[in-house]
Amino acid sequence: MSLLEPIIELGRGLVITMKQALFNPVVTVQYPEVKREVRPRFRGRHVLKRYENGLEKCIGCSLCAAACPSDAIFVEAAENTDEKRFSPGERYASTYEINMMRCIFCGFCEDACPTEAIVLGDNYELSFTNRRDAIYPKEMLLEPVPSADMTTPRKTEANVFTRSVPEMKNPKDWESGDTVKVDT
Ligand code: SF4
Ligand code: SF4
Repeated sequence: MSLLEPIIELGRGLVITMKQALFNPVVTVQYPEVKREVRPRFRGRHVLKRYENGLEKCIGCSLCAAACPSDAIFVEAAENTDEKRFSPGERYASTYEINMMRCIFCGFCEDACPTEAIVLGDNYELSFTNRRDAIYPKEMLLEPVPSADMTTPRKTEANVFTRSVPEMKNPKDWESGDTVKVDT
């Protein structure tokens, strides 16, 4: 190796650095004031969804908990009545907790849910300073109601919300462009 070789390599490195600094756009994001958009398949913090009428999609069936490989979800169900209704059908989740320290964001809970109630959203701000705060309760996970008169629990008409799981269309008919009928 000649004596000049390391100097040439150093010069080449500096040229690349200068090119990057002078001609490429700055990629620094001023977080937390500016938040970077996530990819469409990003899996962030869970959200418990509601129907358009404000009723909770979760029916407390625990299928998500059963599917979770890291035992991060705890669900306890209770009975709905027309006087005090949280979700369509017989039962709702009276307790729903996810331990974010256990979660590996695999999305199995999302796949297992029969009502599409649990969804991994785009929120990646998951910080806590003690173990207790890492357990996210239902109140934190549930999305807000669409309007003030759609809160849960609420009184509903008798014998209307009888189905726990929305009526789904035959997947073979998807291509025809029809929509899924949701009985809520
Ligand atoms: S994303 Fe995976 S690990 Fe996290 S709660 Fe859902 S099933 Fe469990
Ligand atoms: S989120 Fe879905 S799978 Fe989990 S308890 Fe609720 S309805 Fe069942």
